[in-house]
Amino acid sequence: MNSLPRIEISLTKIYENAKTLVDLYCGKNISIMGVTKVVLGEPSIAQSICNGGVEFLADSRIDNIIKMKNSGVIAKFVLLRTTKNDAKTIVQNVDISLNTEIETLEELSKQATKYNIVHKVIIMVELGDLREGVMPYDVIKFIKKVNRMTHIKIIGLGCNLACFAGVKPDRRNMNQLTQLVDMIEKKFNISMKVITGGNSSNYNWFQSNHDVGAINNLRLGESIFLGLEPLYRKRIFGLHTDAFRLFGEVVESKLKPSIPTGNLAQNGFGEKPLFLDRGMETRVIIALGRQDVDTPNLKLTNEIEILGSSSDHLIINPKKHIFKIGDEVEFGLNYSGLLTAMTSPFVKKVFNN
Ligand SMILES: *Cc1c(COP(=O)(O)O)cnc(C)c1O
Repeated sequence: MNSLPRIEISLTKIYENAKTLVDLYCGKNISIMGVTKVVLGEPSIAQSICNGGVEFLADSRIDNIIKMKNSGVIAKFVLLRTTKNDAKTIVQNVDISLNTEIETLEELSKQATKYNIVHKVIIMVELGDLREGVMPYDVIKFIKKVNRMTHIKIIGLGCNLACFAGVKPDRRNMNQLTQLVDMIEKKFNISMKVITGGNSSNYNWFQSNHDVGAINNLRLGESIFLGLEPLYRKRIFGLHTDAFRLFGEVVESKLKPSIPTGNLAQNGFGEKPLFLDRGMETRVIIALGRQDVDTPNLKLTNEIEILGSSSDHLIINPKKHIFKIGDEVEFGLNYSGLLTAMTSPFVKKVFNN
């Protein structure tokens, strides 16, 4: 029998999602970076993405990139979040890094000079979502400074939206990126090769705008893995939404009161849950807790109600379903569920076709 808890991963579905997205975005000359951070740079998954026609693999962690390279995955590797203290490892292992700080770039330049490498960078600009990015009015000054670094080559400009504040990519902010590109190219008489306009959330903008301006690249994680656009979490036509499935084991099933007995204070997680008196009800416990997966964000594929969770126990109301001790229960995963389940050492990763 298969061990529990486990996440079953369909490499074929990931490959098909990557291929469908490459074909779709290619229609407006947009190339794809497959973002592997949510799967910790798992080499077999990275390879499936490459087999789908993706030429860049991007990750926020250098360790994940090194893992993919050591396993023989061949792609252009992009580092999404650049840390000054890893500069040496970065110039030695990464083809392109995304950058927003002169101090970090100076260190990259120093290390690149030492190892006689020309390190390629994409400068990220802040267009409203308030995560990473150089302010647009500072970008000229910023690029002037980077141009003086002999072993750093700026190959593009980018932005990231819908991650922190939830700002939607739209015609206005995407045009702003195009205008910045035009201005920089004229001012410095250079041509920037990679204009990376965003992530999976750029899907609706892409579909509703014929003219994508200077944007010729997107960095996709969620849509490849979960088949969704993240703004409204709608399925993208033709994509699989079940490439990852989580399974847990039933460890208890009993008829119990629906309200607690005794005086109430905070629970183990600093919360004060509310209880409705529904009389006696069946309560089933699954051996799946917050140390395995972000339980409050689990999606049930059947009509089952999640009552709550602690470190190692998930309590559900099984409604019409009947569960026996030792049974497997299947859960769907959203982005947060996928991220945490992949990161937990307790969840076995099982690769299927
Ligand atoms: C995580 C990340 C992405 C991928 O985002 P998805 O919503 O999963 O497509 C793209 N760009 C950057 C900078 C990221 O950190």
